[in-house]
Amino acid sequence: MPYALLIHGGADTRQPESYTDEEAANMRAALKAALLAGQTVLTNHGSALDAVEAAVCVLEDSGCFDAGRGAYLNVDGGHDLDSAIMDGRTGAAGAAAHLHTVKNPVRLARRVMEATSHVLLVAEGAERFAQDEGLEFVGADYFVESGTNVPEVNRPTGTVGAVALDTAGNLAAATSTGGTRERRAGRVGDTPIIGAGTYADNAVGAVSGTGEGEFFLRAVLAHDIAARVEYGGVLLAQAARTALSAKLTARGGKGGVIALDPAGVPVVVFNTPTMARGIVTAANTDPAVALFDEAFPV
Ligand code: ASP
Repeated sequence: MPYALLIHGGADTRQPESYTDEEAANMRAALKAALLAGQTVLTNHGSALDAVEAAVCVLEDSGCFDAGRGAYLNVDGGHDLDSAIMDGRTGAAGAAAHLHTVKNPVRLARRVMEATSHVLLVAEGAERFAQDEGLEFVGADYFVESGTNVPEVNRPTGTVGAVALDTAGNLAAATSTGGTRERRAGRVGDTPIIGAGTYADNAVGAVSGTGEGEFFLRAVLAHDIAARVEYGGVLLAQAARTALSAKLTARGGKGGVIALDPAGVPVVVFNTPTMARGIVTAANTDPAVALFDEAFPV
């Protein structure tokens, strides 16, 4: 079975002109590094789960995106990180929300999935579990935005996510975020809610969303896309387009999704001026990345 890995670095309402050359170059480099990390897993016949986790970790560590090191501040000047991962083969899922000091939220989501009987852990309990699992922790000075310091330029943009199809034919999805700007402390968005921002089912597809989480939550958007395929018999690309238009754009929401169908056909839809994205497949082994309205294989 040929592999595929599709990633995003967030749908963004900023116009392309507002990105500095340095900022765009850093984002492109981070997307490429994430694709290579996931591709290494997939070409060695590793699992789609390992591939999405590896790719998202690179994006979390890059500081270029609103996840991990680049997480946005809340109105009180704190960080609240959320992540989820889902296994399309088994339907297993794990998520962690309202984290403050866990370096890689996606790793914790994976541990929740594999080492507990739960789906979602939050706040102190989640951090205590991360300690038990020996995950890495960071202090407030690790983050690009810290205290009241939001850089004027080269500021992180966008939630991150990945969907993968491995050589065994299994799908997985993972998403990680630092939340939206100007959110209240304690706010949790769609990213760690299975079915809202993240969903995977081998029979249907794998989906990772980005954008105004409240809209994704109310529409249960990732699962809505999957349900259109499962019950409506439409292609995943059509399902994603229709869902985005009916449940996001028509309701005044901004965002986008990436998705892969069971054959590895990639889908990217967004209604924002920009969306950072990247893809690598068995047929196209050179990673391709894009930020703006530019040449991209999908
Ligand atoms: N969906 C994320 C959230 O609402 C934010 C984003 O994707 O930009 O937390």
